[in-house]
Amino acid sequence: MEAPPPPSTNKLQQQEFTLASVTDLTSSSSPSPSSAVATFSCVNEVTELRFQESESAHGFTFDLSSTQLFKLGPLQFICVSENSDSVKQDSFSRGVVIKFSDEKESKFFSDSFEEWTKDAARKGSSLPNGTVSDGNSKFDNKIEAASAKMYFHYYGQLLHQQNMLQDYVRTGTYHAAVMENRSDFAGRVVVDVGAGSGILSMFAALAGAKHVYAVEASEMADYARKLIAGNPLLAERITVIKGKIEDIELPEKADVLISEPMGTLLVNERMLETYVIARDRFLSPNGKMFPTVGRIHMAPFSDEFLFVEMANKALFWQQQNYYGVDLTPLYASAHQGYFSQPVVDAFDPRLLVAPPMFHVIDFTQMKEEQFYEIDVPLKFTASVCGRVHGLACWFDVLFDGSTVQRWFTTAPGAPTTHWYQIRCVLTQPIHVMAGQELTGRLHLVAHSAQSYTINLTLSAKMWGPGANQGGILQTSSCKFDLKEPYYRMSQPQVYPVAQETPAQPQDIQIQSDDLEEIELLQQNANAQL
Ligand code: SAH
Repeated sequence: MEAPPPPSTNKLQQQEFTLASVTDLTSSSSPSPSSAVATFSCVNEVTELRFQESESAHGFTFDLSSTQLFKLGPLQFICVSENSDSVKQDSFSRGVVIKFSDEKESKFFSDSFEEWTKDAARKGSSLPNGTVSDGNSKFDNKIEAASAKMYFHYYGQLLHQQNMLQDYVRTGTYHAAVMENRSDFAGRVVVDVGAGSGILSMFAALAGAKHVYAVEASEMADYARKLIAGNPLLAERITVIKGKIEDIELPEKADVLISEPMGTLLVNERMLETYVIARDRFLSPNGKMFPTVGRIHMAPFSDEFLFVEMANKALFWQQQNYYGVDLTPLYASAHQGYFSQPVVDAFDPRLLVAPPMFHVIDFTQMKEEQFYEIDVPLKFTASVCGRVHGLACWFDVLFDGSTVQRWFTTAPGAPTTHWYQIRCVLTQPIHVMAGQELTGRLHLVAHSAQSYTINLTLSAKMWGPGANQGGILQTSSCKFDLKEPYYRMSQPQVYPVAQETPAQPQDIQIQSDDLEEIELLQQNANAQL
């Protein structure tokens, strides 16, 4: 079927559909459904949808800038608006159930609804009285439009969704966590926060969910609809809603939220904020969150090869005669630029020089604003002697199901995921002796490009005679932009050892006692490649 023509902006335009019935959900005065006509119209920049009952003068008008359509079945929809007909002192939501007698007409109506709503949005949500909405979107207020555009463009492409689906450690763990906790899903209302291809919605439906609202802001929502429609046994219990969690409305509260909002270092992409906003907006008081808790794990590492590789990249700018041009004025900036990129790759856990520590982020409790700045005091005791080149980080999340508690980890040494691990490399390494204390701070500050500035400081405390008088021997600080990682994937990776559980301090087997031993390990590891 041909798509309806896009409505023009100024002229009066309208489009009509015949309905089998329309039933007012919010008024007790019209209990019986009756046949009706639905009319989209646009007059002087105001886009409206009007339902007019055939046998009466009774009608309902919805402003399309604040109206949503939920598909209940092939012929049936709920149409909900935040505030319709007129501006009243107490503004309540308004809803009607509409039914079609013909599936083609029903499909044409929902396609047209999308077109007309887009048009309403293009007009900047013009209100009937000519005022413009305050644009009070929690998302738009804190995220740069250019960043959001690129971000949703990325997720709108199937190849990137495929990349996540093909991370079998990730998708398999989600599948297991849902299936082994069927009792948390069966008969429940679920919201999939950032549904992407709709895979988690379908897992929830497979586990017996009563209804799943799959909310997705990117163009992927259209593909999700198509994919879900091709799985008809699940489709009748899933409604795809195209829009941002921060902006959309849902017709009911959820018993369960499911989402995969994790970025590198857990917090990259700032989607955890969306996840807790979904919690506050849509989750019933005792509802469940899958995942429930996240932890950022951190440990100092020693990796001479990585350090030299990074330093070497900037050597290009040491040339004094590059086609007759002296490049050295930019050497310091280039060097600093390389060292401000967190390194993303899978590393051998034997590079860790101290047992890791972790910082807990409880998705059920964390307030959105608490993600704006995350401050983690660091304290480690070196297990070996060596040069510390920076801080290695990874994360895990817990699915706290009623039947099974399952952890999903991205730890080094565990099966590799598309997140790999992340390492912040310091320009000045720090020497430590086995048993020496390392302290510091990991300070993450959110920025409007959906990522974080990372401030890292590591200090080695005084060692040997006089150490108990306190004092810091060496300190090294660096700033990194989590948005600009260095993907070191061309580098062959070592140590592909499967591990069932997240690496715990006792899992990290560093037996060597001196730097030579660590370097030998690194050489051996490389020799295996
Ligand atoms: N749930 C899918 C996709 C995860 S990727 C899966 O597990 O395979 C995260 C998805 O969330 C992306 O498709 C992205 O477009 C979407 N997303 C991110 N922020 C969002 C927001 N504020 N509102 C709605 N969707 C969002």
